[in-house]
Amino acid sequence: MKKLIRPLVEGLHAYVPGEQPKIPGLIKLNTNENPYPPSPKVLRAVKAAVDGRLRLYPPPTAHLLRERLATLHGCKPENVIIGNGSDELLSMAVRAFVEPGTGLAQWFSPSYSLYPVIVRQHGATSGSAPLEADFSLPSPAALRKSPDWSFDASLTFVTTPNAPSGRAYAAKELEALCRALQGVVILDEAYVDFAPESAMKLHRLPNVLVSRTFSKGFSLCFQRVGYFVGPAPLIAALDKIRDSYNVNGLGQVAALATLDDLPYYRRCAQKIIATRKRLTEELTRLGFDVLPSVTNFIFAKPPKLPAKQWLAELRKRKILVRWFDYPATRDRLRITIGTDAEARAVVRAAKQILVR
Ligand code: PMP
Repeated sequence: MKKLIRPLVEGLHAYVPGEQPKIPGLIKLNTNENPYPPSPKVLRAVKAAVDGRLRLYPPPTAHLLRERLATLHGCKPENVIIGNGSDELLSMAVRAFVEPGTGLAQWFSPSYSLYPVIVRQHGATSGSAPLEADFSLPSPAALRKSPDWSFDASLTFVTTPNAPSGRAYAAKELEALCRALQGVVILDEAYVDFAPESAMKLHRLPNVLVSRTFSKGFSLCFQRVGYFVGPAPLIAALDKIRDSYNVNGLGQVAALATLDDLPYYRRCAQKIIATRKRLTEELTRLGFDVLPSVTNFIFAKPPKLPAKQWLAELRKRKILVRWFDYPATRDRLRITIGTDAEARAVVRAAKQILVR
């Protein structure tokens, strides 16, 4: 029989998302979901949209949502594209801007572990330069000397704030980097809703796309809505390779209703930031080395036992966190900021593990 699967696809490894186990009573702090539900206005809008209209196709370009987001960010609808989660747009960007075979896409490591997966799927070349030991960005001068970095790459991903470290990068520093890069730059601001500063204004540069999601700050992971803001020619290029109805109708309804209640989400973010501060202080007191975070998670080096063992010990106590088995990350745990009660449970469990 003829070989049915392309050799490139046979050699791929699928992206490994955080687990979604259905264990009763589990405290789930492994995938950076928001612990607070969507606004009641969003739930009402979605319920009201569930009727016979489900038989119809949704608006193909999500034009109402593009218009609302353009107003929010002070640009035009042609500067905005909506995706089935920002993951879909990241993948479309690889297809739109990187030539398979010869093109290079790069990022800093560690950052979002999806980037290498979508570049490999496309058959393009991957590159990554290490962040500094404190997860700060290397300076452009250091990058010029680095064998791991190319200012000519077709596409550069920058996770800002960084994941998994939770670290912030200043818009000024990002601007210098974007101006030095010749290709397209995606500033992946998935976690910016918990940070003091955004680099959104850089979408006015000719090569910069700013990526946002409704998943984290807007409690809408389930609905899969993300967007890019950027120069009209880049957005138009992405639009050419977009699936015809890529954003489902209920997702569009939910995202529009979200924008009607932004103060609710600001209040939720404030609660998460307050919990982040308390959890950081308490874990630090127990001997954890917690990096300063501007996101809805912390990246913490636990005391006494290896991080992998902490993962297992916490799991025994029905607390699920994330551990990444790479040299720069394997001595730390990424812990999503949940409710105050969940943070207290983490601290209680950590105390138990320490006196074992
Ligand atoms: N970027 C980063 C850095 C992320 O951590 C995530 C969530 N895993 C995403 C983008 C994608 O989010 P979504 O597809 O839910 O919009």
